[in-house]
Amino acid sequence: MRIHLCGVRGSTPAPGAEFVRYGGHTSSVAIAPDGDVPRLILDAGTGLRRVTGLLGGAPFAGTIILTHLHWDHVHGLPFFSAGDRDDARVTLLLPEQEPQNEEGSAGAEEVLARGMSPPHFPITPAGLRGDWSFGSLAPGVFKAEGFTVEAREVPHKGGRTFGYRVSDGHSAMAYIPDHCPTALGPGPDGWGEYHPDALALAADVDLLIHDAFLRPDEVAAEASFGHPAADYAVALAHRAGARRVLLTHHKPDRTDDALDALATRFRPDPTVTVAAQGQLIDL
Ligand SMILES: [Zn+2]
Ligand SMILES: [Zn+2]
Repeated sequence: MRIHLCGVRGSTPAPGAEFVRYGGHTSSVAIAPDGDVPRLILDAGTGLRRVTGLLGGAPFAGTIILTHLHWDHVHGLPFFSAGDRDDARVTLLLPEQEPQNEEGSAGAEEVLARGMSPPHFPITPAGLRGDWSFGSLAPGVFKAEGFTVEAREVPHKGGRTFGYRVSDGHSAMAYIPDHCPTALGPGPDGWGEYHPDALALAADVDLLIHDAFLRPDEVAAEASFGHPAADYAVALAHRAGARRVLLTHHKPDRTDDALDALATRFRPDPTVTVAAQGQLIDL
């Protein structure tokens, strides 16, 4: 599989001269079967706009899977021009939400429309052109666009959040862009307690793409926002047996120089790299 990092920022986009090398778009990762165009997209932050450029003028035909519904993971949806055209075919899947009333769980399209409809936004999901379908996911294993995908719920903050493990039968990657330790305090490696589902998603993968929002000196003040120190991501990867870890979901005020410093701090460990928008990884 070929993995395109289309957005590696957390919280909100970060335009500006200080953010050129690592990029300013929010979370989106596009996955292509070998020798093909992307068909499976994880998260629809503003980085989703870059997927249009990977398709060579063709419409998108594939599946978008959301980890959760925070703005930085959905705001690219109405600006995905390869998906918003009459000849596009898009399946959008998101974590099933808790029932809002006694009639049962809310439908995926309805949940999405809560944040994407007037007066918040000019159109609803139904206003997207092309053949769009919307569905809810429970934790478990399913097939999407020829990939095997495993969904597990992981701790974050303010909204049900999944991590995903994607395999093509040859290699496997795990994507956990928003995730915090189950409890503050040192835990087994000094960075917080691990959740068994996060460890299971990352177990023996070729690549783990993981939330690295905070520096250790920021944890005390900001851990309540649902993100870990980068060191937690690295320690989790090692504990789970992941062969590589890519640190992502960068804080929006983390400049290129600051991310260089993060990379330098981990450089003695060749399995750790810092995600940059536009990066391509072949597994
Ligand atoms: Zn996020
Ligand atoms: Zn989030």
